[in-house]
Amino acid sequence: TRQWHLASRPVGEPTRDAFELVTVERPEPEDGEVLIETHYQSVDPYMRGRMRDAESYAEPWDVGEPMKASVVGEVLESNYDGLEAGDIVTGDLLWAEHAVAHGDELRRVNPALAPVSTALGVLGMPGVTAYFGLLDVGEPKPGDTVVVSAAAGAVGSVVGQLAQIAGARVVGTAGSDEKVDWLTDDLGFDAAINYRETDDLGAALEETCPDGIDVYFDNVGGPITDAVWPRLNLRARVAVCGQIALYNETDVPTGPRKLATLIEKRARVEGLLVGDYEGRWGEALERLAGFIDSGELEYREEVVEGFENAPDAFLGLFEGENIGKQLVKVSD
Ligand code: NDP
Repeated sequence: TRQWHLASRPVGEPTRDAFELVTVERPEPEDGEVLIETHYQSVDPYMRGRMRDAESYAEPWDVGEPMKASVVGEVLESNYDGLEAGDIVTGDLLWAEHAVAHGDELRRVNPALAPVSTALGVLGMPGVTAYFGLLDVGEPKPGDTVVVSAAAGAVGSVVGQLAQIAGARVVGTAGSDEKVDWLTDDLGFDAAINYRETDDLGAALEETCPDGIDVYFDNVGGPITDAVWPRLNLRARVAVCGQIALYNETDVPTGPRKLATLIEKRARVEGLLVGDYEGRWGEALERLAGFIDSGELEYREEVVEGFENAPDAFLGLFEGENIGKQLVKVSD
């Protein structure tokens, strides 16, 4: 069976050299453990941080060791009461075709409710991030203007739709016309900006947010966030979820310096971490599943076929190749 190992720590933009495909013996489950065959593996922007040897909310990966990933797979062998061969589960496992894990660390996925891949996207970590990040931190109110960056991504696309359900006007930023069309034509965003084709982001925000910005859900940081800042309204909320525009930077980037805006606007800027909501996943998943059923929440997945292509799927996140959640299909 095969695993992807971290071959070296990239500096700046990672390349394929940072990854090594290694063939190993298939692991054997011990007492309380199960053997899982990966069907889908997730690749996520935060993994860039784990390639760095720096303290953060997610532990760094070791060079020469397998990398970790959220996975959906099938139980092949079980030494755990409560799971049996054939069950579909999800958990934080490895970039691997097979892995063992203790049964307590896995969540069962019901294939009758939704395609199992959604357990890594809209009904998984990104969906839960969007749910609590927007509702708990962003606190949108009817009539508010909500701006979300990386709006066509896994988290952003859910944020925008939840904001509409909350009665807000929603504007997204994204990196292609195809993404902009998906947001406005299919998901019902009030407006979307292709930031790669826009010279003056400030003017584009001015035009699409004539009443200013009440909630900014920040997935990217960098120039987009700089352009949002001066347009925040009185009592605006900024939910800082991600800073992908800066993940490959080698120097500490300069942040918005005009903090006086926060005084003038009595605005709140708050970081959020999905891990803090561990005990409340059930509540978020139930509501997200309900919105999918009612047709209020749509989702898309970008599937790269083949375990050997997992690094390309990961690197593609930094090029904006994905619409919706980026996945790797490892087996049927
Ligand atoms: P996405 O599905 O949104 O994929 C990443 C997207 O980021 C790309 O598709 C690309 O879209 C955009 N992007 C890449 N580089 C840049 C750049 N330089 N400037 C602007 N946009 C860029 O990923 P996720 O939905 O999984 O994650 C979104 C963000 O949320 C990430 O920053 C991630 O780290 C963060 N996150 C944080 C969590 C938390 O608990 N705080 C949990 C989960 C995610 P485009 O074409 O629009 O450029």
